[in-house]
Amino acid sequence: MTARILDGTKIRDAIFAELKDEVAILSSAGIRPGLAAVLVGENPASAMYVKSKIAACQQLGMGSGLITPASSASTAELLAIVEDLNRDNDTDGILIQVPLPSQVDTKRVLEAVDPAKDVDGFHPVNLGRLVSGRPGLVACTPAGCLEILRRNEIPIEGANAVVLGRSDIVGKPMALLLMHANATVTICHSKTRDLPDVVRGADIVVAAMGKAGFVQADWIRAGAAVIDVGTNRVTDAREAERLFSNFPARLEKFRVKGNVLVGDVHPDAANVAGAITPVPGGVGPMTITMLMSNTVRAARMRRAKTIPRTISAGGPSSLGKR
Ligand code: NAP
Repeated sequence: MTARILDGTKIRDAIFAELKDEVAILSSAGIRPGLAAVLVGENPASAMYVKSKIAACQQLGMGSGLITPASSASTAELLAIVEDLNRDNDTDGILIQVPLPSQVDTKRVLEAVDPAKDVDGFHPVNLGRLVSGRPGLVACTPAGCLEILRRNEIPIEGANAVVLGRSDIVGKPMALLLMHANATVTICHSKTRDLPDVVRGADIVVAAMGKAGFVQADWIRAGAAVIDVGTNRVTDAREAERLFSNFPARLEKFRVKGNVLVGDVHPDAANVAGAITPVPGGVGPMTITMLMSNTVRAARMRRAKTIPRTISAGGPSSLGKR
C-alpha cells in the first residue's frame, strides 16, 4: 500500500479537543451549546446513531435532549415538537433523525426547523446560502470531507475534483464546497458516460454512490487524493474475495464475522492513490464531528456573536476563498 491514510478518527480527536475548549468558553459566558434530538419510533439503527450523538455532546460538555415520539406520530405532532424546539432558547441545534415513519411528511418536518438551528444543514435556506457562498450551516458529511482535505493540506485550489454522486446530503453540497475552495469540479451520477475516464482526470475523487468497491484502482490517477464516503456492508463471501484478495487480514475478519464494511472505492486503489480515507475510520467519524461543530457554531451565530472564536472547523472558512 503506497497511499497516505487520511485518518478521520485523528481529525475527530483534534476537532473534539478544539470544540471542548470552545464549549467551555461559551459556557462560562452563560451560553452552553445544546442539541435536541428527535427520535421517532423504535428503529434500532436510528436509536444507535442518536445515542452516539448524545454521547458526543456529553463528552464535549454540551447540553443535549432527547424527544421520543411514538412510531404512530403524525406530521402535525412532529411539527408541534419542532416549533417548541425552535422557540427554546437553550436549544441551538435540532436533529430530526431520519428516516421518519411513512405516514409523516418528512420534507415538511425538516423544513419546519429554524434554519439557524438546522445543524444537519438540510434546510433549503442553508443549501441556498451554500450555493451563494454565504455563511450558513453545511451538511455534516461533505463538511467533514472538506475538513479531511484541509487538515491534511491536500491542495484544492486549481485541482480537478470529481464527485461521484449527486444526492442533496452528500454529492451536491460536496461539489459546492469544492467549487468555493476553487477546485474545478465535475459531478457524476448514474447517467454519466465514460465514468472511468472522467475519474482518471481527477486530482481529488470523492465517491458517494453507495456501491461497494465500484471505483476501480485503475480509474485512479497516480497520486490522487481519494475521499471514500461510501459505507457498504458486504455479506457475500465471493464479493468479499473480489474486494479483499490483497488484504488477507480483512478477509480473515470477514470469515470470522460474516460481514465487512467497505467503501465505494475498491481497496486496491490504496496502491495507486497518493492519499486515501479508510473505510471504516475515514469519513465516518467526521459526520458526528461536524454535527457537534455545527451545533457550537449555531450557538455562536445565534447567541454569542461577540465572544472571540477559537476554532475553524465547519466555520465560514469551509467555504474557502472566492
Ligand atoms: P444516494 O442518495 O443513494 O445517492 C447515490 C448517488 O450515487 C446518486 O446521485 C446516484 O446517481 C449515484 N450513483 C449510483 N450509481 C452510480 C453509478 N453506477 N455511477 C455513477 N453514479 C452512481 O446516496 P447518499 O445518501 O449520497 O450516500 C452515498 C453513500 O455514502 C452511501 O454508501 C451512504 O451509506 C454513504 N454515506 C456515508 C456517510 C458517512 O457518515 N460515512 C454519510 C452519508 C452517506 P443518480 O442521481 O443518477 O441516481
